[in-house]
Amino acid sequence: SIGKISLEQIDPLSAKSYPLCMRQLHRGLRDSHHLRHGGRMQYGLFLKGIGLTLDQALQFWRSEFVKGKVDADKFDKAYAYSIRHMFGKEGKRTDYTPYSCMKVILSNPPSQGDQHGCPFRHSDPELLKQKLQSYKVSPSGISQILELVKGMHYQLACQKYFELMHSIEDSGFSLNHPNQYFMESQKLLG
Ligand code: SF4
Repeated sequence: SIGKISLEQIDPLSAKSYPLCMRQLHRGLRDSHHLRHGGRMQYGLFLKGIGLTLDQALQFWRSEFVKGKVDADKFDKAYAYSIRHMFGKEGKRTDYTPYSCMKVILSNPPSQGDQHGCPFRHSDPELLKQKLQSYKVSPSGISQILELVKGMHYQLACQKYFELMHSIEDSGFSLNHPNQYFMESQKLLG
């Protein structure tokens, strides 16, 4: 966690310090005002991990969902519970921890219409390439990433993306968690 973050910081943070999986989920949420269950879990727990409080999380998801097909009443009935649940305030009161890369890569692969998963593992390479181009990754950087993806080195591909996004030669860490990506980014940009 970087300490207190405000909801206004989320958009700029998503461009500067989110790994690709979370950037994709954030964009998907902003564009469609909705995320399916797998996406809400993956992104919701990540947000908790970067320091959002339960109240901020409820406000964040509600304000986005009500721009789409869900009104505030339906949100409170159908979605607020699962967000409180994520924070361990409902049900068995388990304090759920954000998903690691291995979990994202190996379990619950996204199907059509889902935004969750690891883009290095689950995106079609051509779509991944287009996405990286739209994020201004250089052609040589893109080839290096796609080469790693082809060798099924998804986390190394993500680490390469980190290096390119932060203009550094060597990230100096071994990536295994989306929240680790975020913290290392904040350390550099801090
Ligand atoms: Fe996210 Fe990990 Fe995949 Fe990177 S390697 S995009 S942090 S799941």
